[in-house]
Amino acid sequence: MKYINKNLTIEKISVEAISKRFGTPAYCYSYDQLRKNITNFKKNFSSLSPLICFAIKSNTNLNLIKEIKKFGLGADVVSMGELMLAIKAGINPKKIVFSGVGKTSAEISYAINKKILLINAESQSEIKEINRIAKLKNKKVQVGIRLNPNTDAKTLNQISTGRKENKFGVNSKTFLELVNYCKNSNNIILKCLSVHIGSQILDYKPYVKMLKAINKTINRANFKFEFIDLGGGMGISYNNNKKLNYKKYNIAIKKFIKNHKSKIIFEPGRSIVGNIGILISKIIYIKKSEKKNFVILDAAMNDLMRPALYGAIHKTLPSIKNRKISKKTYELVGPICESTDKFSTLQKFQNLKEKDIIVICDVGAYGMSLSSNYNVRPKPIELLIKGSKIKVIKKRQNHSDLI
Ligand SMILES: *Cc1c(COP(=O)(O)O)cnc(C)c1O
Repeated sequence: MKYINKNLTIEKISVEAISKRFGTPAYCYSYDQLRKNITNFKKNFSSLSPLICFAIKSNTNLNLIKEIKKFGLGADVVSMGELMLAIKAGINPKKIVFSGVGKTSAEISYAINKKILLINAESQSEIKEINRIAKLKNKKVQVGIRLNPNTDAKTLNQISTGRKENKFGVNSKTFLELVNYCKNSNNIILKCLSVHIGSQILDYKPYVKMLKAINKTINRANFKFEFIDLGGGMGISYNNNKKLNYKKYNIAIKKFIKNHKSKIIFEPGRSIVGNIGILISKIIYIKKSEKKNFVILDAAMNDLMRPALYGAIHKTLPSIKNRKISKKTYELVGPICESTDKFSTLQKFQNLKEKDIIVICDVGAYGMSLSSNYNVRPKPIELLIKGSKIKVIKKRQNHSDLI
């Protein structure tokens, strides 16, 4: 994305033109950025030749997943719906892993029928349930066990998952018990140790700690795992220029893998799609108050939940950069009757007027996939930009879809 003659453009098309043609609010993704992200991710870990399973929950657009599949990626799913979606996108079930603490019998049964690569179990009860269903079907099921390595990912509390007080995975002691349980089962083939310590991680050190914890547990288990699934969580730059040091993470994995000779699996979501998307929105009104000016957009927290849910701050840009810097503070809000329906506070932003187009950046991950119909608001259109071509990859919902 860059300004050409003061017009913000995504690949070869101006945001202003997109907003006129397709209306607002609109989610818009760059194919070129997607390609770059996947290529870079592969390059960063090329010496490991890992299986990369895209975390479907970060973006559930079928057409986008089809594009991701073309680069050879598999999928990490956390529900039957996501599993169905991944299969519909053409992803080979042998490249699909199923995570989550609360898989129902129906979900486990479906996953077994589809012969996916791994069901990553997160508790003793779940392992027993998988065993029970597999026995009924007279099938052997490939399973992973998720270890809770008790490492602080140094990220937002709401998206931290690898500490002992989090609900995810099992501790080292239970892990060892489950390994023994699996060894004695005729219907479970234990293949994998999995972890996932959180999301939006920008410091490589928690990953190093995580690897140490895995190493310790594997040595105690005295079991050869065909796969080590390291999860996702790689962070992106939202409003600062902090970057995860992939080099150091890769070095730590290489050191770790020397002792274990397992195939590495990654489950990245945000790092693949986070910075490929923008949300284009129009200013409905500007409301002046004593202290600040409220800029009321036609996009709201139902369209983009991250600021309300996590206090996330997204970079915001004008579609046309042609006015003087304002002395006022702008509060960027949506029309919903909740005080958390706020995107950001803008200082030293250019002067704004009603009907201006505003762009909220880096919304490709956990943007549309977290959206809802709160206030009976139809969901936005989704567009994929490839050079000078625009493809509608999901139509805007109509009120008639909802009423
Ligand atoms: C959410 C999740 C991911 C993806 O996390 P990102 O931060 O988007 O990379 C991967 N694995 C599991 C088990 C998850 O729950």
